[in-house]
Amino acid sequence: MDDQINCPQCNSENAYNDGSLWNCPDCGHEWNPDTPAAATDVEAGQGVRDANGNPLADGDSVTVIKDLKVKGSSLVVKGGTKVKNIRLVDGADGHNIACKIDGIGAMNLKSEFVKKA
Ligand SMILES: [Zn+2]
Repeated sequence: MDDQINCPQCNSENAYNDGSLWNCPDCGHEWNPDTPAAATDVEAGQGVRDANGNPLADGDSVTVIKDLKVKGSSLVVKGGTKVKNIRLVDGADGHNIACKIDGIGAMNLKSEFVKKA
């Protein structure tokens, strides 16, 4: 077992592999690390890339490169805002990063407006 994986849901180190799936005894999450859609896309060269063309992955930290208005509100995400622990999503409208921003909350961003921190 040189390949310990932490639970993606609660980050527990107690997750174990039962042969086909990983199980987390702490939160009950089960997952298969071999078939995450995002990772497959990255391997195929179609992954989400930042403004500089660097590939992004779940859990990355990024910096917003320009002021972004938050749809449906008067809030603005300032250029330079650091965003931790992003999650790649299949954003049909181009908003392919799900994240949580301090002072604003959960929102989706376009990868073209961030760069890897
Ligand atoms: Zn867990």
